[in-house]
Amino acid sequence: MLLTAHLLTGAFIGKESGSIPIAIFLGLLSHYLLDSIPHNDGPDDGKKIVDGKYSKSQYILVFCDLSLSVLIFCFLFIHGSLNLNVVFGAVGAIIPDLMEQVYFLNNLLMRSIFFKKVLFFHNFIQKNNRVNIYLGLGIQYIISLLFFFLII
Ligand SMILES: [Zn+2]
Repeated sequence: MLLTAHLLTGAFIGKESGSIPIAIFLGLLSHYLLDSIPHNDGPDDGKKIVDGKYSKSQYILVFCDLSLSVLIFCFLFIHGSLNLNVVFGAVGAIIPDLMEQVYFLNNLLMRSIFFKKVLFFHNFIQKNNRVNIYLGLGIQYIISLLFFFLII
């Protein structure tokens, strides 16, 4: 799933958790749970990407998703809904994507058999839950809206 859905789910979990370690742990678990819901991560989802060359529409979608996440967290800050539990719940919820998408982190983790298996599991649950792009993005933004209203 895209960043917004993961961050808002983790933020809500953090809000309800009452402690930073629980927020991180449950946020992390929520990532795998959300990724197991049928979804679509954009025009390039499911396509073989050669040399990291994504399509222009994929970059635009990711840029919009990232911008939306920043705007939402600015709003939550101004609204007074951000505290450390919320922030760490959100961070916990994006750890699996950071492990996969941040190049140097991925390189480092791939040296460990344990993390190799964790990364394989992350890929495995995503590959088997792909639906068409409109339904797949719609599901994510419904989840995002739901958790946004539960946080504020
Ligand atoms: Zn993921």
